[in-house]
Amino acid sequence: MIRFEHVTKRYPDGTTAVDDLSFEVAEGELVTLVGPSGCGKTTTMKMVNRLTEPTEGRVFLDGEDVSAIDPVRLRRRIGYVIQQVGLFPHRTVLENTATVPRLLGWKKGKGTERAAELLDLVGLDPSVYGDRYPDQLSGGQRQRVGVARALAADPPVLLMDEPFGAVDPVVRERLQNEFLALQAQVRKTVLFVTHDIEEAVRLGDRMAVYGQGRIDQFDTPATVLGAPATPYVADFVGSDRGLKRLSVTPVEEGDLDQPPVVRLDDSLAHATERLRAVGAPWAVVLDGGDKPHGWIPAGGSGPATPPGTVRDHARPMEAWLPLGAPLRRAFATMLQHDAGWIAVVDEKGGRYLGVLTPARLHEALRRSIGADARDVPRAEVAVETVTASATR
Ligand code: ADP
Ligand code: MG
Repeated sequence: MIRFEHVTKRYPDGTTAVDDLSFEVAEGELVTLVGPSGCGKTTTMKMVNRLTEPTEGRVFLDGEDVSAIDPVRLRRRIGYVIQQVGLFPHRTVLENTATVPRLLGWKKGKGTERAAELLDLVGLDPSVYGDRYPDQLSGGQRQRVGVARALAADPPVLLMDEPFGAVDPVVRERLQNEFLALQAQVRKTVLFVTHDIEEAVRLGDRMAVYGQGRIDQFDTPATVLGAPATPYVADFVGSDRGLKRLSVTPVEEGDLDQPPVVRLDDSLAHATERLRAVGAPWAVVLDGGDKPHGWIPAGGSGPATPPGTVRDHARPMEAWLPLGAPLRRAFATMLQHDAGWIAVVDEKGGRYLGVLTPARLHEALRRSIGADARDVPRAEVAVETVTASATR
């Protein structure tokens, strides 16, 4: 959808901002461009919508050389979100959001209707926020309007330049989550610039790690973290990259343990017997719909099991996770509840599937690193090995 072919950008003062860049972003893909300040991320992005022109090489949008497309027409096909948002202060939120449809000559009613739809989509009730002015919004809400406005004319491509850079970390994480949910619905082709490695890892289907004017590695976050292509990338992603991998590795069915399971309406005597038979210290308690209800300990070794059912004695289950949740969330939940295991349910129906333990979590992490290392082209792995041993 977006293709860079040997693109170099030298500014008139002689600065080479981007040096012989080639990469491709597939339709519906979200690629993050990450690197330190001044490494050429913004310049890269601006060559897509012709806010700046390459010195050498070509940029293609959907197979068309962008240098052959009228810049104004080009920009209407590309949503653009920047940190300073650039909302018009004297226009309402609704009017701001309808900017591009209006420029495109949509009928007023249709543009407004579309703007209201988009505000809804980014979590701003148009009947509450539509008539407000930008200075009556929080920073996070303004960013949401920026995203809604960029999407209003339904462009296939979105360029986002540090869009969440100016909001505080808590709001930023919320905006990231909302944006991921939104992207799952709208499936735009997105170039997303950030200097924040966590954000790049979190949002990107793939990420481009920039050195000075060049891309050092272009791959999935899991691979970049698991097998950095160069010592520079390893350094940039940080010595805690193993920990960061927790964010991009999902809990899979094979990661789960299967402790004994009992039902709410089982008699306690029956449940205790089962636990003793397999020597398990506790069992998971499920309700009639196969959903986790709680757990029950094996109890003392005395012969006298109290009467009644599991329901009377079960302890509540405080938290569980859907399959596919990142290991990081699993780990955080275990820590938060001081739990030695956590139940995992299927994403849709909430049916119990098994439990994740710290030991299995560790195995999952190692498995995913191993798998990715094999996926990395041998040449790149060799570079890392050679350089690593050369510096020793
Ligand atoms: P990033 O977005 O990664 O921080 P930029 O793409 O903005 O980096 O800048 C890359 C390099 O190009 C920097 O050295 C910057 O100073 C330089 N640069 C950016 N814009 C211009 C310009 N208009 N004229 C001259 N140099 C520029
Ligand atoms: Mg920049």
